[in-house]
Amino acid sequence: MASQAVTAQSIDFSKWYNEIVYKADLADHSPVRGCIIIKPYGYELWEAIKGGLDRRFKETGHQNAYFPLFIPKSYLEREAEHVEGFSPELAVVTIAGGKELEEPYVVRPTSETIIGEAFSQWIQSYRDLPLLINQWANVVRWEMRTRPFLRTTEFLWQEGHTAHATHDEAEAETLQMLGIYADFAINEAAIPVIKGRKSEQERFPGALRTYSIEGMMRDKKALQSGTSHNLGQNFAKAFDITYVDENNEIQVCWTTSWGLSTRMVGAVVMAHGDDQGLQLPPKLAPYQVVIVPIARNDNERGPVMEAVGRIRAELKAAGIRVHLDNRPDKMPGFKFNDWEMRGVPVRLEIGPKDVQNNSVALARRDVPGKEGKQFVSQDGLAVRVNDLLADIQANMLRQATEFRDANIHWVEDDYGRFREIVADAWAYTWFCGDAECEAKIKADTQAVSRCFPLDQEPGEGRCIACGNRATERAYFAKAY
Ligand SMILES: [Zn+2]
Repeated sequence: MASQAVTAQSIDFSKWYNEIVYKADLADHSPVRGCIIIKPYGYELWEAIKGGLDRRFKETGHQNAYFPLFIPKSYLEREAEHVEGFSPELAVVTIAGGKELEEPYVVRPTSETIIGEAFSQWIQSYRDLPLLINQWANVVRWEMRTRPFLRTTEFLWQEGHTAHATHDEAEAETLQMLGIYADFAINEAAIPVIKGRKSEQERFPGALRTYSIEGMMRDKKALQSGTSHNLGQNFAKAFDITYVDENNEIQVCWTTSWGLSTRMVGAVVMAHGDDQGLQLPPKLAPYQVVIVPIARNDNERGPVMEAVGRIRAELKAAGIRVHLDNRPDKMPGFKFNDWEMRGVPVRLEIGPKDVQNNSVALARRDVPGKEGKQFVSQDGLAVRVNDLLADIQANMLRQATEFRDANIHWVEDDYGRFREIVADAWAYTWFCGDAECEAKIKADTQAVSRCFPLDQEPGEGRCIACGNRATERAYFAKAY
């Protein structure tokens, strides 16, 4: 028990996070600065995230493709804001095969440029539009300060890239993909994210508009968990992505890009974890149920394992991801703590008495102690477990939503009060969107604008920072 304990969230959330990542077996340290090794348990969680998104992308007509890791450096220089935004973070290959390269290659920080170049070849006529491509890939951004999953030098993600005939179609696509991210986050990751538009200052380099989903973590900081950009015609002009319209006239395309990364793993950890460890939503958990057999000797072990084999097969057949913890050298108490740490939604215990009574014990991760434990019949167990998993999934979303709503406060015309709020919560307020106001707020409070939420009533008020007229409300919070 003592070896498993983690630092309490209330004492040092950041330390808690780092401990959980390693103790829950999601990742390991890597010899490369700023990189991590994603271990099988963490990778299965990522695969579940991938699966949920990939299905949604395909349902909305997108196809997967793969582009090279290396991008000619000159490509990045074609879009001025883009190269300026990314150049401090670039890793550049100048020597390969023992020779200096004539033109250096950039290790992709994102692929707008190389995909834009391909699009310019692929798109000729309005009949080629829309072009809807997604890529699952790794990217590299040379970050100064890194945290496992949240910000690593190399990370995994998907990047969608699309081209359209009109601004409105590109905007509709941008918002559709934002909606898909939100739907996934809410309904599978049980994180009640807020959809919104980023301020000018927080916009993607080269984009017309950037939208994001923002989630509240247990330390009340915000985590941007997915972004969708309407790139306007900036990249299309830089890469000559044009088409011939119905009237035989040449038109410039409108493009979008959108991405969600392994950062989502960090979001799941920080939105749901507690002082006992990780807490995984059933829809994403690599193991939804762990079976812990309890037998003190060989006499007991025989009948217990026979029941375990039957139950395991029955749950598997019902589509439940079940894991049997059969480690002979570990005591049940150790196993209970271990799986609690690793966030498995349901623990199923079965001992000799349960075999006699045709029962099992089910303990749910989201309700601690005796309250979360029930003894149930082995008859109809798969149905009962599926119901329990659905209940846990709903409860986790409910808890996260209540926590979020309790920690967002509306503030109007009172900068002093605003400063107090963002010290330890989110503020919702009128914001004019100016760079100066954003910079002042950041300097005074360390909080930054998260987004102008899409879901807001029309109206106007006075900007919290400058007092000038503002027509939109924004969330402010400290952020990762
Ligand atoms: Zn202002």
